[in-house]
Amino acid sequence: MTELTNNGRDCSSVTVKFTKLFINGQFLDSVSGKTFETIDPRTGEVITRISEGTREDIDIAVKAARHAFDFGPWPRMPPSERAKIMMKWAELIDENVEELAALDTIDAGKLYHMCKAVDIPTASNTLRYYAGAADKIHGEVLKMSGKFHAYTLMEPIGVVGHIIPWNFPTTMFFLKVSPSLAAGCTMVLKPAEQTPLSALFYAHLAKLAGVPDGVLNVVPGFGPTAGAAISSHMDIDKVSFTGSTEVGREIMQAAAKSNLKQVSLELGGKSPLIIFDDADIDKAADLALLGILFNKGEVCVASSRVFVQEGIYNEFEKKLVEKAKAWVVGDPFDPKSQQGPQVDKNQFEKVLSYIEHGKRQGATLLTGGKTLGNKGYYIQPTIFSDVKEDMLIAQDEIFGPVMALKKFRTIEEAIKSANNTRYGLAAGIVTKNIDTANTMSRSIRAGTIWINCYFAFGDDVPFGGYKMSGFGKDSGLDALHKYLQVKSVVTPIYDSPW
Ligand code: NAD
Repeated sequence: MTELTNNGRDCSSVTVKFTKLFINGQFLDSVSGKTFETIDPRTGEVITRISEGTREDIDIAVKAARHAFDFGPWPRMPPSERAKIMMKWAELIDENVEELAALDTIDAGKLYHMCKAVDIPTASNTLRYYAGAADKIHGEVLKMSGKFHAYTLMEPIGVVGHIIPWNFPTTMFFLKVSPSLAAGCTMVLKPAEQTPLSALFYAHLAKLAGVPDGVLNVVPGFGPTAGAAISSHMDIDKVSFTGSTEVGREIMQAAAKSNLKQVSLELGGKSPLIIFDDADIDKAADLALLGILFNKGEVCVASSRVFVQEGIYNEFEKKLVEKAKAWVVGDPFDPKSQQGPQVDKNQFEKVLSYIEHGKRQGATLLTGGKTLGNKGYYIQPTIFSDVKEDMLIAQDEIFGPVMALKKFRTIEEAIKSANNTRYGLAAGIVTKNIDTANTMSRSIRAGTIWINCYFAFGDDVPFGGYKMSGFGKDSGLDALHKYLQVKSVVTPIYDSPW
C-alpha cells in the first residue's frame, strides 16, 4: 500500500516576503486592518497572516485601475512597449523560479519539482506568448454598401476583475493577467484565500518589470466579501472567473444585477477517459492514473470517470490497481513524491466524505480510501469499480484522487456514458482506430478532446468548457479577444466613383 514519504523539509526553507494588498503599485494594509491565516497543507500549521481585502479595499483598487485605464500610459503606449515590459516580467519570473515554486508548494501542497519545471516556466511563457500578440491586435476595413468608409477598432474592454482558484495559483494568475495586459486593460485580481502567496510575489515582480502603478492590483480576501465586491462592482467592465460551477452562477447573477459587466466562466468538470479494446493496456493504465492523480486530483479536467471496454477490462483493472498501490504520496518537496496533500482541511474532508458516499452507495473500493500520516491532508489514491452512473461519485466533481471506473461494451454506450454529466470541460480517448477516435471526438460534448494523450495544453490552444463547465476561452487568441471590444467607425465618402 502507498506509504507517506517525507524528506524532512519544512516551510521555514522559504521566507514569505509579501503579505499585504498590492494596490496602485504599493503594498498596503487592508482598510479594516484585518488579516487571515494561510495554512501549510503538509502540516495544517499557519505559514503566515495575509492582509484581508474586503469591499472597501476592492473599491480603492478599482479606483486605481480605473484611473490607470482612463488616464494612464498602459492602454495608450505602443503595444510593442507593453510587450517589452511583459517580456521583462517573464525574465524576472524565470530568475526567481525556485522561490516561486516553493511558495506554491507550501501554500497549495503542490509538488515542488513540478512547480519548478512546469508551472512557473509555463507561466512565464504564457506572458511571452501574449506579449508577442500585443502588437498584432487590429480591426478590419469593411466594404460597406453606400458611399462610406467603414472600419473596426479593437479596443481594450477596460477594467477587468479576475477571480481565481487555488489549484494552480501560478497558472491561473497568468492565464488571466497575460491576455488582459496585452489587450491594454487594467485589472484587479483576487487570488483564492487558500493560496495568496505567489500572486503577491508576482505583483512585486510586475512593478520591477515596469508595469505602471494601478494597472495590476492584487487583493487577497474571501469569496463572499472581496470576490463578491468584484462581481457586483459598478465600475468593473468585465469579470473573468475560474472556480466552481456554484460560484460561477453567483458571479453571473451579481454581474447581471449590477452593471451588466461581461462575464467569462471557467468552471468545474467530471471528465471521462474512454479506453477501447485496441489500447496498449499498460500505457492506458498509466494515462488513467495520471489523469486522476496529477496535482492530487485537484484539477478541473481530472479524468475522474474512466470507461474501459469489456475485452481488456479485467487486465486493465489489475494493472491500474497495482500501479495505484505503487504511487508515491508524500512531502511535496521530496523529489520521489508523486502526490502531495490536499489543499486544506475542507477539501480533505470533502474528498473523504465522497469516498464514504461511494462505499455506502454500493461501489466497490478497489484500492485506497484512507488518509495517510498523522498530520497534513494526505489521501491515498482511491479507485472505485462497479460505479453506477447516478451515484454521487459518478456525477459530482470530487476534486481529489478518486476515480470511478466502469466497463462498457459498444461505442454507442461509451458516447452515452461520457455525455451523462452536467459538465463538459474535457475528455480523453485511447484507441488506435482513427474512425473510433473521430466518431468519439465529434460525439462528446466537451471543450477539449485529447486522443491518446491527456493534460496536453498549449498557449495557442483554446481551453474552456461546454455545458455547465462555463464559457469563454482561456489560452489562445480566443482569450485575447475576451478582453477586447469591437468599435465600428463609419465616415461618408463624398464624390466617390465607387
Ligand atoms: P471556488 O468557486 O470556491 O472559488 C474560486 C474563487 O472564487 C476563489 O478566489 C474564491 O474566493 C472566489 N469566490 C468564492 N465565492 C465567491 C463569491 N460568492 N463571489 C465571488 N467570488 C467568490 O472554487 P475553488 O474551490 O477555489 O476551486 C475549485 C474549482 O475551480 C473546481 O470546481 C474546479 O473545477 C474549478 N476550476 C476550473 C478550472 C477551469 O479552467 N475550468 C481551472 C481550475 C479550477
